[in-house]
Amino acid sequence: MATRPHKIRSAIWTAEADALLGTVPDSAIAAQLGCHCKTVRERRHKLGIARFSAARAWTKEQEALLGTDTDLAIAKKLGFGHGQVHRRRHFLGIPSTRPHPEALKKIIARSGALPMPLEQSTTTSTGRQLLIHQRLLQKAGDEFPDTEDLALTAYLERELAEVYSTSLHPPACPRCHSRRTELQQKPHARMTVPRFTCMTCRRTFNRIVGTPFVRLRAAKLPLFIRLLSQQIPYEEAARRLGVSYTAIQNWTKKFRIWLLQRDPTGKWEKKVRLGIRARPHIRCPRCGADGEKHLDGYMPTGERRLYCPACGTAFGIGDAERLAQQKVRLEVWHDPGKVDIDPEAGNGKA
Ligand SMILES: [Zn+2]
Ligand SMILES: [Zn+2]
Repeated sequence: MATRPHKIRSAIWTAEADALLGTVPDSAIAAQLGCHCKTVRERRHKLGIARFSAARAWTKEQEALLGTDTDLAIAKKLGFGHGQVHRRRHFLGIPSTRPHPEALKKIIARSGALPMPLEQSTTTSTGRQLLIHQRLLQKAGDEFPDTEDLALTAYLERELAEVYSTSLHPPACPRCHSRRTELQQKPHARMTVPRFTCMTCRRTFNRIVGTPFVRLRAAKLPLFIRLLSQQIPYEEAARRLGVSYTAIQNWTKKFRIWLLQRDPTGKWEKKVRLGIRARPHIRCPRCGADGEKHLDGYMPTGERRLYCPACGTAFGIGDAERLAQQKVRLEVWHDPGKVDIDPEAGNGKA
């Protein structure tokens, strides 16, 4: 039953009629063909053609620009969409300014076996070592690779053992740094660490005072310490520890401040990678544009792929390094736990 009107509608759609779609308003086509506006709209949708709009109408001057620069640059200049410019250029049969990018493998083969540039660590300008092939965002169902820095974990575990030590030997006062301290109370059932008294400032303290361990849930600490050096987002750490994002953010910040107080050279603090995101920088092997590139998935080999926003092409890191004769450099662009390197800031006022 329903096939009859469909047949009638199909009959009016000659190649000429189809070519009109989207170039003038649907109502104008409907008037010309003597059909309903809805018929024109349905046909246009079926062929995936965008509705005519005054904004999309191309003037001769605008069309003259096509092919004189990249589609993206022209789209920006005209305030059009990238795809709209691309389709129009194709429709008019105008070749792209940029010849189809030659495969980097071919360029490498032609230029002979280029050596890889000398190995240098991916240390950012802040001195932080980040791993280029490490994923920064989680793909569904995937696990983050283990990037724990065992030296930092060992250092923090030693500190943790010291802070929770049951030794009755009185340490210096965490508030006034006085050495005139005495044992006040031995550990007992409700207080598992000894308490001391400072004879100078007359206040009592235990070894946890002035460390980021104060107010943190002791049971979560060993695992949290192991996450600090991992190049994973806060969300992932929060999920693994079963605590909130804000808690992870606060703990990380406290630990970074404390690490800087313990060692103002920043040697240990730099090992913290939790929550920090970086972007790669290298000279583009195709267009030569220096600076930031985007991470853009993976090569079939599993290697990370970079995308050059200047020329709009993507390439594997290995090929880019060989052709540009430089290593990819990572620069921190998101550091939610940023702390000032000021060893006096908030010293022991926990
Ligand atoms: Zn004191
Ligand atoms: Zn480029």
